[in-house]
Amino acid sequence: MILKDRIAVVTGAGSGIGRAGAMIMASEGAAVIIADRDPMAGEAAALDIREAGGRAEAMATDVNDDKAIEALIAGTLSKYGRIDILHNHAGIQVGGTLTEVGTDGMDASWRINVRAQFLAAKAAMPAMIAQGGGVILNTASNSGVFYDREMIAYATSKHAVVAMTRQMSLDYARHNVRVNALCPGWVDTPFNEPFIAQMGGRGAIETYVRTKIPMGRWASAEEIAEAILFLVSDRSSFMTGQALVIDGGESIG
Ligand code: NAD
Repeated sequence: MILKDRIAVVTGAGSGIGRAGAMIMASEGAAVIIADRDPMAGEAAALDIREAGGRAEAMATDVNDDKAIEALIAGTLSKYGRIDILHNHAGIQVGGTLTEVGTDGMDASWRINVRAQFLAAKAAMPAMIAQGGGVILNTASNSGVFYDREMIAYATSKHAVVAMTRQMSLDYARHNVRVNALCPGWVDTPFNEPFIAQMGGRGAIETYVRTKIPMGRWASAEEIAEAILFLVSDRSSFMTGQALVIDGGESIG
């Protein structure tokens, strides 16, 4: 097991990609703290991991709340004594152009997609330095490395995640803390439901995915979890400051 006894905190791990990442980390021996704002989803994910023989517990956390983020990191450190892996995964998508998105949508995108990751990393970093190293994985998106139409708040905040990741990686490489960004393309999770509704329903999105994605299909959350495992484990031990894109070729053209 490549993550045996490592302590991992995953935000937004109650569903979709975060959940699949938590499952694969636990299957490789990590003890996983499931930090989701939905307590039922968090408990269900933790229970699934335990039923599969892994170690997990849920700590209900809304990353919109600074105190909750600080309590998550402090609570994990006081209970487990270390944090080896911090996967900042929770995020929001506010669709629209400059003239459509309000300052509230821009502020919320910054707060959840960027500021919450900044704060969680800031809280965990002193412990990672003191323990001799650690791994931070910040979920961006392929929207963090290329541009799609009508996505000003999402693209801007996800590009900022990639920039922040690169800056953090430079500042802490000497402390053996690796920081990378995860950049998935289309993954069929509830996250896309508002966008699907905006596009006109399931049929429209299926046509879009078939025609616009070079590989002609969605990713599964499990395919993204393989990349998560690579990035949080020693398999990527000399990799820091990178944005790993897993998008079936969408951002290539
Ligand atoms: P999902 O909807 O399946 O799961 C998101 C989970 O995050 C839910 O359990 C939800 O309760 C939790 N959550 C939402 N807001 C939260 C908050 N404020 N605090 C704590 N938990 C919160 O979505 P998903 O697709 O697995 O993951 C979403 C993340 O992945 C976002 O950061 C998104 O930008 C990124 N992403 C998704 C896709 C995709 O196509 N699904 C593509 C690229 C990037």
